[in-house]
Amino acid sequence: MSQPDLGTKRVCVSCGARFYDLNRAPAICPKCGTEQPALVPRLRRNSDSLSPRSGECCPHQENR
Ligand SMILES: [Zn+2]
Repeated sequence: MSQPDLGTKRVCVSCGARFYDLNRAPAICPKCGTEQPALVPRLRRNSDSLSPRSGECCPHQENR
């Protein structure tokens, strides 16, 4: 066992303290007691990888 299950590492939005949420929802800062907002997954970059550049899906090549 390398690590106990502490949950997700969070940074308090109010006081900036770093703590683990212990898998609780919502996470509550142990220092100031502020409920932390739900984790927001980072927005991925533009769907660059989703669009094939080879043009195989588009038989009609348009000149732009
Ligand atoms: Zn706090």
